[in-house]
Parts: sequence; C-alpha cells; structure tokens
Amino acid sequence: MAEQLFEGGCLCGAVRYSAVGPPQHQTMCHCANCRRASGAQSVAWVSVSRGKVEFTQGEPSRYAYTREDGRNIERTFCGGCGTQLTYAADGPDDGIDITTGSLDDPDAYPPKVESWREEKLSWVKP
Ligand SMILES: [Zn+2]
Ligand SMILES: [Zn+2]
Repeated sequence: MAEQLFEGGCLCGAVRYSAVGPPQHQTMCHCANCRRASGAQSVAWVSVSRGKVEFTQGEPSRYAYTREDGRNIERTFCGGCGTQLTYAADGPDDGIDITTGSLDDPDAYPPKVESWREEKLSWVKP
C-alpha cells in the first residue's frame, strides 16, 4: 500500500502535525481514561508507528501518567486550547495514536473496531 500523508492540528491552530500512513489501526476507544482526557463519551483514534508523526508547528503540552494496568502513558495536547492530539503507551508495540477528530480530514479514517467496550457507557449507541 502506498504511503499516505495526513495532517491535523488543534482548535486554535497553534499546534500542527503531520503523519505518514497508512494507519495500523483505526479505533473507537471507550476507555475511562480517554473519556476523562477528552471530556467526551468516546474517542476515535488513528494509529501509526511512533517515528511517523512529527509536530510541524508549535510544541504540544505533555501529560505522562501510569495507567491502572501499570503501563506508562503519554498524552499530548495543545496547551492553549486543550485539543487532545496523541496517545502513546510504553511497551512492545511502537504505535502512537492520533485523535481522528484533530485530523484535517477525519472522514477519511473511520473507526473500524471498538476498543475497551467493557467501559463503554450504557447510553452510547450502537
Ligand atoms: Zn490549540
Ligand atoms: Zn482509551
């Protein structure tokens, strides 16, 4: 498959990134961590290899923490307007997730699977 370039950024425009695909995964995450971080019921993600994302304008703020299962997580977001941008967990998988909603063309990368369905809110359909 040919390499795709996709770009995105935050609400205020201070932080921009570009990534080279094709995506490894396109997911809709229902986990409680994503819910808190975004303030939304679920979050759509596009995943690529970690080395394939670069911030092309501005510097994101970073939030590092340890998840309940012991994995170390780093989320990036715009420190000015708060848009969630990326999520990466340490471990064997070298992926980094990009919020589909921050892409310039989010319609091009629909979620293909749901993750953390056990934490999905009861009123989220289907
Ligand atoms: Zn911003
Ligand atoms: Zn999640």
